[in-house]
Amino acid sequence: MPPEWSLVVHGGCGQLTPETLPGPEGECRAGLAAALAAGKAILNAGGSAVDAVVAAVSVLEDHPLFNAGRGAVFTAEGRTELDAAVMDGATRLAGAVAGVTRTRNPVQLARAVLQNSPHVLLARDGADVFALEQGLEQVEPGWFRVEARWQALEAMKAAAARGEDLFDADLKYGTVGAVARDAQGHLAAATSTGGLTGKRWGRIGDSPLIGAGTLADDRSVGVSCTGSGEAFIRAGVGHEMGALVRLAGLSPPEAAARALADVAALGGSGGIIFIGQDGVPGWAFSTPGMFRARATACDEDEVAIWGSRG
Ligand code: ASP
Repeated sequence: MPPEWSLVVHGGCGQLTPETLPGPEGECRAGLAAALAAGKAILNAGGSAVDAVVAAVSVLEDHPLFNAGRGAVFTAEGRTELDAAVMDGATRLAGAVAGVTRTRNPVQLARAVLQNSPHVLLARDGADVFALEQGLEQVEPGWFRVEARWQALEAMKAAAARGEDLFDADLKYGTVGAVARDAQGHLAAATSTGGLTGKRWGRIGDSPLIGAGTLADDRSVGVSCTGSGEAFIRAGVGHEMGALVRLAGLSPPEAAARALADVAALGGSGGIIFIGQDGVPGWAFSTPGMFRARATACDEDEVAIWGSRG
């Protein structure tokens, strides 16, 4: 019997060491626990998986230590351009936004696209206009600004001026996400990110792309990814996991391992959180650490950052 409900969240992954954490370890863990609590409250009350993942991701977007919403990284021009997606596994309706600049919680804008538009993905100015029409909370760009993220951009520019690699991507991972299975047995997934420090040319990663960084399908699995977005797009990680579970009969952990191996074959690394119809919340990652937490109706909550040490 699957647990009555289950939830798993992530706050990104990468070359994490105690020295490179975005803030005190206790604060990172508390942020993950707060996101878990927000989603759990909805699932405990019989709410939907979609509402649970949006609530959990909204908490991480508002948290300055994670690269989504407030605390997002800066583009090369010193702007915050935010991407988010949400998918409902029951209906396979999906909503996503890319390059939005004024909505406090991009995941809530993604849900508005899902619920109140005939489209799946809105981008940039048009998505900002849609947010206004939907009456979602708008903020000045300064709301998103966190000094450490600005310094990261400055450091990257200084490195570029010295002729060093502009995209030492391992240091710049960060994205948040959640996957839930509700008491009705429905799956949902949501992902939100500021993308990569110093991104240019309207670059969009895997996070808002349904079937890449985000997927939910009651027939197979709910998935939210973090990592080298270009490799996750090329590997079609969300869709690949769904197909491996639904058509090839793999378990979600087996499918995640296979998908990460494919990402590695393309030169990428990262992490995946997932829940299948057995309701077991899982994660897999090929980086030294991943901010992550999970809960079910019957198990103790678990919050972890490091590889083997939890
Ligand atoms: N996958 C995200 C992107 O490519 C970044 C990350 O997860 O760190 O935008």
